[in-house]
Amino acid sequence: MNATLFDVSRRRMLGASAALGGLSTLGLAGCATTASGPSIGRVVVIGGGFGGTTAARYLKLWGGNVDVTLVERNTSFISCPISNLVVGGYKQMADITRGYDGLKALGVKVVQGDVSAIDASGKKVRLAGGGELPYDRLVVSPGIDFIWDQVGGLQAAVDAGSVVHSWKAGPQTVALRRQLEAMPDGGVVAIAIPKAPYRCPPGPYERACMIASYLKTAKPKSKLLVLDANPEITSKKALFEKAFADHYKGILEYKANAEIKEVSGKVAKFEFEDVRADVLNVIPPQRAGDIARSAGLVNINARWVGVNWLTMESTAAPGIHVLGDATFPAPLMPKSGHMANQHAKVAAAAIIQQLKGQAVNATPVVMNTCYSFVTARDVIHVATVHQYDAADKTFKTVPGSGGVSAAANQIEGRYALSWAQNIWDDMLAAA
Ligand SMILES: Cc1cc2nc3c(=O)[nH]c(=O)nc-3n(C[C@H](O)[C@H](O)[C@H](O)COP(=O)(O)OP(=O)(O)OC[C@H]3O[C@@H](n4cnc5c(N)ncnc54)[C@H](O)[C@@H]3O)c2cc1C
Repeated sequence: MNATLFDVSRRRMLGASAALGGLSTLGLAGCATTASGPSIGRVVVIGGGFGGTTAARYLKLWGGNVDVTLVERNTSFISCPISNLVVGGYKQMADITRGYDGLKALGVKVVQGDVSAIDASGKKVRLAGGGELPYDRLVVSPGIDFIWDQVGGLQAAVDAGSVVHSWKAGPQTVALRRQLEAMPDGGVVAIAIPKAPYRCPPGPYERACMIASYLKTAKPKSKLLVLDANPEITSKKALFEKAFADHYKGILEYKANAEIKEVSGKVAKFEFEDVRADVLNVIPPQRAGDIARSAGLVNINARWVGVNWLTMESTAAPGIHVLGDATFPAPLMPKSGHMANQHAKVAAAAIIQQLKGQAVNATPVVMNTCYSFVTARDVIHVATVHQYDAADKTFKTVPGSGGVSAAANQIEGRYALSWAQNIWDDMLAAA
């Protein structure tokens, strides 16, 4: 497969404004300052993914003299966006892996480690390897962890390597790709999609397209079963249905209302049938990351963290700002990397204002764009703009804003790769 279908670097600037969208409304636009004078406060950020890195960068960019420490358990950032192209064989892991050097150069202290506990009353976090980090304000962007016990046998099967989730980019992405490569032509691949809400609403359907695209060219006698616990495709429905019909007829079979109950070996058990697959990709039900739960921040549906949308502070613990997938979303707000990046900018602006004893911006606006590859080149998007509503204390979509692609097209294929490059640069201070 061609790993360089597109030249991202030449198009890096194309989507800059999209990746940075929402800045002008956050109250600090154009106020980049240089570090000078005594520190106005210590901020510890847990999680070096989309939300945490953006918060760390913008605390430095907008605050100047904020003392920022970012704690991340992994040595480098590996992006979920574009990881479905690695699964399909159109990109390599190196294309979605980035380092933290840009943030270090900005003065962010990057600590590789695992935060094992948050001491909210003592205002410090504990590291699994020993040591504590004191803070004035804490940012928590730990992403998701899985609700294993909703699918019998799943955790053991994933631990054994017989089933992959590939819903956190990294070794799991590689494992799914290798299993697809090892499968003989004529084999069966099954993807099980959990009930919403889960990380990246269109992600499973994009993955289905990428796997079907690979099978169509490399293993045309094979089948892909897409078994969805939801009553219908949860995002960009008509566009995905058209892609399935136009490109993958005879290879991809989609079934709604199919909720996986149990896994045994390579057999996935549903209410009315058992499905045997050579490659079994089960995306587990999800909740806020473990550290949010153990710190007592999870206070909605026993899964998500409620936040004050003006500051992103947890409603369970003031002074602790929670971002991204771990939050209970505002209406129609997706769990996406783009949205985590926007949450981070709201939080960074608010934290700086709080540390300075100033009022926070009362009218934030955030936006989201999610691109999905339906073939190796053709892409569709969905976009939304969300405005804070003071009466209901939540973000609401702005009427008439956003929308979806009229049809899949190759120009959006280039935009999608530019979007990824630009948001990685934005969050990691890489450009
Ligand atoms: C296949 C796939 C495709 C996707 N495509 C898109 C897309 O095209 N566009 C889009 O906008 N979004 C996309 N997403 C969604 C996007 O990846 C997530 O919404 C985004 O990563 C959320 O950001 P976050 O900061 O909440 O969590 P993450 O980015 O997951 O970051 C969390 C970080 O915290 C670290 N961490 C957790 N706990 C601790 C701890 N105790 N100590 C230290 N470190 C810790 C983790 O290691 C991780 O690096 C996709 C997701 C998937 C799975």
